[in-house]
Amino acid sequence: MSTCSTGGCQTIYSKKRYFTYGILTIISLVLPFLQIDGKQLFLLSFDKKQLHLFFTAFDMQELYLMPFLLILMFLGIFFMTTLGGRVWCGWACPQTIFRVIYRDLIETKLLGIRKSIKNKQKPSQSSTKKAIAVAIWSTLSLLAASNFTWYFVPPADFFTYLQNPLEHMVLFGIILGIAAFLIYDVILLKEDFCIYVCPYARVQSVMFDNDTIQTIYNEDRGGEIYDDHHNMINTKPIGETDECTGCEACVKICPTHIDIRKGMQLECINCLECADACTKVMGKLGKESLITWTSPNAVKTKSKTKFLRLRTIAYGIALAIALVALFLMGATKEHMLLNINRTTQLYKIKNEGKDIQNVYTFLFQNTDSKDHKYYFEVMHDGISIKKPSQPFNLKSGTKMKKIVILKAEKNLSEHAEEDTLLKIDIKAFALDDKEKIVVHRDTTFIYPSPASVKSYLNK
Ligand code: SF4
Ligand code: SF4
Repeated sequence: MSTCSTGGCQTIYSKKRYFTYGILTIISLVLPFLQIDGKQLFLLSFDKKQLHLFFTAFDMQELYLMPFLLILMFLGIFFMTTLGGRVWCGWACPQTIFRVIYRDLIETKLLGIRKSIKNKQKPSQSSTKKAIAVAIWSTLSLLAASNFTWYFVPPADFFTYLQNPLEHMVLFGIILGIAAFLIYDVILLKEDFCIYVCPYARVQSVMFDNDTIQTIYNEDRGGEIYDDHHNMINTKPIGETDECTGCEACVKICPTHIDIRKGMQLECINCLECADACTKVMGKLGKESLITWTSPNAVKTKSKTKFLRLRTIAYGIALAIALVALFLMGATKEHMLLNINRTTQLYKIKNEGKDIQNVYTFLFQNTDSKDHKYYFEVMHDGISIKKPSQPFNLKSGTKMKKIVILKAEKNLSEHAEEDTLLKIDIKAFALDDKEKIVVHRDTTFIYPSPASVKSYLNK
């Protein structure tokens, strides 16, 4: 969306922001319902002890992906902030979206208890309509809180639990708690959350450089309103060529109640409402907006913002490496899990020392979406499976403990006085899909020394 005058065509950001908010809201509502084989794009289920990522389920024991996700998240924040400043705050943060819905849509457009979205300095008028606004927002808060939990509890389970809320008090207690916070935050705390509570607001300025895109008032064109110590000199610049009219449309519209003509401030959430306000004022005079979304260097050199620079390229490369690593790690996902533990007994000596056995506990887990029949092989010459003698079934998502006895088919002793420790490879698989559902695990088979066998038989 742009507005054109004799000063040229200029961007109006608000329509673009509203469109972005709409798209993001739809995406966050719809994403949990998009499933492939029952797997979501993202789900961290504490209930099922599973992580769903890109429609693939990972068991809690496979959470080696979590560090990559965290690295990716932090690198993403660094990259985004260095490149686009507080672009997240103005264009995607739920706090900003919720405040626009409550203040500009419900209070102003729908109920008229605020006069205009152009003036956010005046509080809303107290009336019965305020109670209606609170009621509407409370309903939306419950929806937002439920939507949030769908990334931790699959929607199908959520709606089943909803039929018996008393049996799921913790879940619904969490939802009510989140909704209550959203009501307090959006109606009472307002933009003070961005200014005093949000940790991102505190740290983001250290990631800025002079090429970071921000909301900037062009003092060279507009004229000085504040001195170097941020004290107001005049409400309207006095220089003959100074273009700022002193109308303060940019100040009145600011949701965080700041004056961008003072320079970059921590409170600025990059919503660009002031830029739109100035675009309309200056447009009527046939001039370009004095407030634009640009970088300090671009204003100084009257050039375009430099997005490609050493910092952004470095973050971009690091981000790409972390993404590739995440995909590669994700691709190595095993479709079954197997944990092997030896029992405390070193070995069993049977049949006059001719039958040597080792006992293990195998924990099989079917992490696939289908039921399978499993069995395993010992990849070592001279060692065979005594128990279990038959393959066994395991339902999707379930675990099974098996006592496994391996026995030596021949004399495997390598030392006269010491027991022999043999490294063996266990290959476990689903019989109906040996190509895909297969894992290898190393363990040890202990074969007693002739001396140990002799002393055992003499007991
Ligand atoms: S100064 Fe105010 S209106 Fe302008 S971008 Fe920052 S927060 Fe928004
Ligand atoms: S809206 Fe533009 S012209 Fe009006 S006070 Fe702000 S910077 Fe000056």
